[in-house]
Amino acid sequence: MNQDPNCIFCRIVAGQAPSDIVYESEDVIAFRDLHPVAPTHVLLVPKCHVTSLHELAGRDERSTLAAALLVAARAVAESEGLGNGYRLISNVGADGGQTVGHTHVHLIGGKPLSPRLL
Ligand code: 5GP
Ligand code: ZN
Repeated sequence: MNQDPNCIFCRIVAGQAPSDIVYESEDVIAFRDLHPVAPTHVLLVPKCHVTSLHELAGRDERSTLAAALLVAARAVAESEGLGNGYRLISNVGADGGQTVGHTHVHLIGGKPLSPRLL
């Protein structure tokens, strides 16, 4: 599996850095964000190092990983009791505000969120 030893999320995937893991499948891991912005704030992360969702969608021709991220979102929403809803966000690149260069989707919920994104 493609991993980058200098990437914090690869280190979490490898068990070399601590994290609060809430879900794991063959291709995806999910753990709580270090700086939560809502009662539930989980990061859905492919285990292989791909820099962003844009990159991942470009090389994942059969959408296997993209789909696995959405399946993970559903599983985490269920286990976190987010029956009233939640939000998925993926920041892509510099203008998208991405700060960690390993694909991740934020799952945020546990309180009513504003319909406004910004
Ligand atoms: P981005 O800004 O790239 O969309 O999101 C990166 C997220 O990763 C941020 O919400 C930040 O709090 C989180 N984060 C950064 N480093 C770590 C870490 O070492 N552990 C965990 N659990 N989250 C991290
Ligand atoms: Zn990585």
